[in-house]
Amino acid sequence: METRLEEFKEYLRKIEYLNAASGLLYWDMRVGMPKKGIPYRGKMLSYLSGEAYKLQTSDTMKEYIEYFVALEGLDDVTKAMVERAKKNYDQTKKIPEERYIAYVELTSNAEAAWEEAKGKSDFEIFKPFLEKLVSFNQEFVEYLGYEKNKYDTLLDNYEPGITVERLDVVFGELRDAIVSLLNKIENSKVKIDDNFFKKSFTEKEQEEFSLFILEKMGYDFEAGRMDVSTHPFTINFGNKDVRITTHYLENEFRSALFSCIHEGGHAIYEQNIADDLDGTMLGGGTSMGVHESQSRYYENILGRSREFWTYFYPEAVKRFPQFEGVSFDEFYKAINIVEPSLIRTESDELTYSLHVIIRYEIEKELINGKIKVEDLPQIWNAKYKEYLGVEPKNDAEGVLQDMHWSGGSFGYFPSYALGNLYGAQFLGKMLKEMPDYNKNIAEGNLDEIRLWLKENIHKYGSVYKPAELIKKVTGEELTAKYFIEYLNNKYNKVYEL
Ligand code: ZN
Repeated sequence: METRLEEFKEYLRKIEYLNAASGLLYWDMRVGMPKKGIPYRGKMLSYLSGEAYKLQTSDTMKEYIEYFVALEGLDDVTKAMVERAKKNYDQTKKIPEERYIAYVELTSNAEAAWEEAKGKSDFEIFKPFLEKLVSFNQEFVEYLGYEKNKYDTLLDNYEPGITVERLDVVFGELRDAIVSLLNKIENSKVKIDDNFFKKSFTEKEQEEFSLFILEKMGYDFEAGRMDVSTHPFTINFGNKDVRITTHYLENEFRSALFSCIHEGGHAIYEQNIADDLDGTMLGGGTSMGVHESQSRYYENILGRSREFWTYFYPEAVKRFPQFEGVSFDEFYKAINIVEPSLIRTESDELTYSLHVIIRYEIEKELINGKIKVEDLPQIWNAKYKEYLGVEPKNDAEGVLQDMHWSGGSFGYFPSYALGNLYGAQFLGKMLKEMPDYNKNIAEGNLDEIRLWLKENIHKYGSVYKPAELIKKVTGEELTAKYFIEYLNNKYNKVYEL
């Protein structure tokens, strides 16, 4: 069996290498490739993913899976590895190839249609594509099967094991708590001025400050690098080459800074995964939601905390004359300003989850055939008015703002809000286990936190599914209570409620 296991790993490594090569080509495409290279690059990428697909669905793969599934008493890692390979195999085999090819073709046309529709702010252009995308996804759910809710099957692609039944509870609680806090904040006497963040900041000074913070967070620059791209992202090829990108806005100090801290959180997760998971297909973060828990923990819970800025504010004032005369309190509050807005990616920490919950509620009804695509703009706008008190003037700042649906990504959005919940749940545990948690942060010592995250979460890669991991780390199931408590504590102070 040991020999078979080594052979199986060698086989899986081939898939990993192909995926890593595709990843590197993708990174280059986003960071520095000349425009005219796009068509050739597209062919390279589709060739490589075709090769990976063949390995993933081959008879050899089938034999390995059958051999290992029949064995008893496998260790956690081997068991998880076999389960993952089996899931990939089953999923690709259950969907008829010609339907899948038609779907891939549809998504590439849908992306172009979405871009045009967004540019012209006209939902009608995107509508027929979205209708087809929804119906394809409904069809795929039938092939793949479901127990209680059709949408569960799509959620499972991004957050294995999560269900509508559970999300309805936690998101419902979270939505009500945020809406109630928002109402209180709107009536608060405290008015926050954040105009000093909108002065002019050069790219170079922003970059240096971000690099300084990333270094302090424990992002390993010998196993990573930072570049510029239109949309910030993290990508890795193994755990020794984990790259991040950012995007600088001259008149918004917070944009690149917090995106660096966010991507830094994703990257530290990948860098800290155990070396011996190489060749198991488990050497990456376990789910989108758990990944977001790390990035959003660093960005918000840590990066927007009083203690964090107790240490970094003097450094900011030293580096940026733009902050002359801005007190610590003004600086801290401006980082935590709450302003309900229309665009998810520009929203503040408090209202962010509402943007996600709106998409969740809509997707769930769409996939279950309870609402129609043609009614989406109206439903979207009504929900924004009800939860956030703002109303889009057009489809571009409403239902067309995100590209996810055009790529067929239904079930993806909830991970963003789940990340907030997981992150606060981990925080609860950290506070219990680290008596000097706040003191360490205020002194700029972020290492103990990183090591705790590594020991409890990062090193396991994808060995445990999200629900297993949460239970293992915190002793509890997923709950909204820690995040709600965190939000109340924070905003009661910031807005003196
Ligand atoms: Zn992220």
